[in-house]
Amino acid sequence: MKHTILVIISGALLTLFSCAKPMPAQTEYVLGTLCTINLFEKGKPELYRTLFVRLREIEDHMSVNKDGTELDRVNAAAGKEPVAVDADVIEVLSAALLYAELSDGAFDPTVGPLVKLWGIGTDNARIPEAAEIKAVLPLINYKDVVLDSQAKTIYLKRPGMALDLGAIAKGYAADEMARILKAQRIDRAIIDLGGNVLAYGEKQGGKPWRIGVQDPTGDRGAYIGILEIKNKTMVTSGVYERFLIQDGIRYHHILSTANGYPVQNGLLSVTIIADRSIDADGLSTTVFALGYEKGRNLLEQLGNVEGIFIFDDGTVRATDGVRSSFNLTSERYRWAD
Ligand code: ADP
Ligand code: MG
Repeated sequence: MKHTILVIISGALLTLFSCAKPMPAQTEYVLGTLCTINLFEKGKPELYRTLFVRLREIEDHMSVNKDGTELDRVNAAAGKEPVAVDADVIEVLSAALLYAELSDGAFDPTVGPLVKLWGIGTDNARIPEAAEIKAVLPLINYKDVVLDSQAKTIYLKRPGMALDLGAIAKGYAADEMARILKAQRIDRAIIDLGGNVLAYGEKQGGKPWRIGVQDPTGDRGAYIGILEIKNKTMVTSGVYERFLIQDGIRYHHILSTANGYPVQNGLLSVTIIADRSIDADGLSTTVFALGYEKGRNLLEQLGNVEGIFIFDDGTVRATDGVRSSFNLTSERYRWAD
């Protein structure tokens, strides 16, 4: 008798569980890219919804490709007046200004006018005239940003200046996803915001996640090797993400604040592994812009961040702390040392 009841109860439980079958990974187009979130066994529709709503909110605050965002208002008021913004814009801009400082302006969130001019990744992509580039370069200077974190306002000192947080906003957004998951006591998830990957928690059994590092010259999804990480984020900046090809020449989207053209230094991509995605994202662009020597020095000086560098001669270099967790598998690439 007892036995039968147990069978019935476990049968009922089984039905209950199968009703609440977790939703598979969800993908939406937000922040100018495909964002995929996988909550595994905790994949409830409400939680997915909460996460994507927050991503859209961040987009509404920080996008420059959308009218009426907070950043848009700051840019429109350049040279006129400070503009009050949401706390998240203050946080992201503060981080961006830090990386501008650390790179002596190679990374610069006031790169907006130059990004607009090239339009890479938009329908208006084109190679600007040298004179046009010359005209906007003086507008790029992070020292002319007045950020008042008490009043939560941003003021751009000169008319024509414009912020662009495209190099760092997705990192912040990934951290926000992790923050929400933590508050909801979720143990594990993979957050992939257009290749900006946050491996939250660990795999069942305490195993690390295995994440592919994009082959910068291969098809999307082709990887040069596998990185094993737990509770870390991996962000790549590369020549392949957004680009324009004209007369056989490829122009990518990370621009030199010194000469106004896409950065050319032999790097095809830089992957940063860090605890916080805002740092990994900020640094991936910063290190790419700085180039290998200076970029690697910066990572070593900061500590607790690692980098994988892929060069256009097919060689790969990496900081010491990541060599053992990165398995280079592609035959098209080889270690430089
Ligand atoms: P993605 O956003 O494609 O993953 P990145 O994080 O490297 O790649 O960001 C590239 C974006 O950063 C560009 O599309 C542009 O909006 C912006 N950007 C370009 N050059 C610079 C620069 N020198 N400093 C700061 N931001 C830049
Ligand atoms: Mg970046």
